[in-house]
Amino acid sequence: DLLVVGSANADLVIGLDRRPGPGETVLGSDLVIHPGGKGANQAAAAARLGARTTLLARVGADAYGRMLAEAQRAAGAALSGLLIGAAKTPGTVAKDGTGGAEEGKDAPPTGVALITVDAAGDNSIVVSPGANGRLTPDDVAAAHDLFAAAAVVSLQLEIPLETVTAAAQAAAEHGARLVLNPSPPARLPEDVLALCDPLVVNEHEARLLLDGQSPGAGPEEWATALLALGPRSVVVTLGAEGALVAGPAVGAEVTDGIGMARVPSPRVRAVDTTGAGDAFTGALGWRLGRGDGLEEAVRYAVRVGALAVTRPGAQESYPSAEEVGTAGQE
Ligand code: ADP
Repeated sequence: DLLVVGSANADLVIGLDRRPGPGETVLGSDLVIHPGGKGANQAAAAARLGARTTLLARVGADAYGRMLAEAQRAAGAALSGLLIGAAKTPGTVAKDGTGGAEEGKDAPPTGVALITVDAAGDNSIVVSPGANGRLTPDDVAAAHDLFAAAAVVSLQLEIPLETVTAAAQAAAEHGARLVLNPSPPARLPEDVLALCDPLVVNEHEARLLLDGQSPGAGPEEWATALLALGPRSVVVTLGAEGALVAGPAVGAEVTDGIGMARVPSPRVRAVDTTGAGDAFTGALGWRLGRGDGLEEAVRYAVRVGALAVTRPGAQESYPSAEEVGTAGQE
């Protein structure tokens, strides 16, 4: 099974010609609301491919929380790890299939991303973490059954860092493989980095993690510098160029049993790249859990990422295994 521990957000999107300055008001397009958040996206992507997937996350006892639960259900993910409001016990399934709701004055609202898209297609985003910020190490401890059932645990950084650390340690204790996407980029404790197999970064995240170390210009140099931070393996996603894989038993050996391989992405007409990295990482976690080697799993994941950019939205754009089966193969 794949266990994704992470964020669930409502993405509130408004198009506009020009962003307002301080004190200014502008009119925008109709509001569009999508299920999002990196954790929810990854879980939806894997479940849609047929993976047995559970999302350990916290949402509010509100309409956005219900929308996110419904999106997980529609993708085929288990809802038993979805904590609602101030609920304390994941894995105890409520009538609606979720980890139960507890309302109270301290119950947080669902996380929200306020997204404006200007005429040039550029985003600016304000995130209110809400319930994501209340996913705690205690929630991880209470979810030991979910960790025990997981072959792979997938993490990102839109929840408190102490919760990420607790989840990484729980994965190690239960013998699950750890996939971690450090997004939004932040410095990770060394013991967490040492468990990543792989650390998955895009170019932007690679640069930020390597800040001050100024490695050479190319992804191979970034991968080498990232490996020096301690993860067991590294995947650098390269947008339309696909990905670079670096680790033991990968491609051609570079040094000390560590090899690298470039994995090209199928050529597609990109319509909306939102959530492509999450689709990639969800697919990667699932394939690793099935026993694929890292390079083999990345070959599959680039095809999932490529299909995700051919359709608008994040979770709505994710392909089924059937669609991936025929895509990008000569
Ligand atoms: P992120 O979404 O995190 O910025 P990337 O842009 O590197 O990550 O995309 C992740 C994966 O999605 C890539 O490895 C690739 O497989 C696929 N992908 C993204 N953009 C494109 C594109 N324009 N054409 C084909 N595949 C793409």
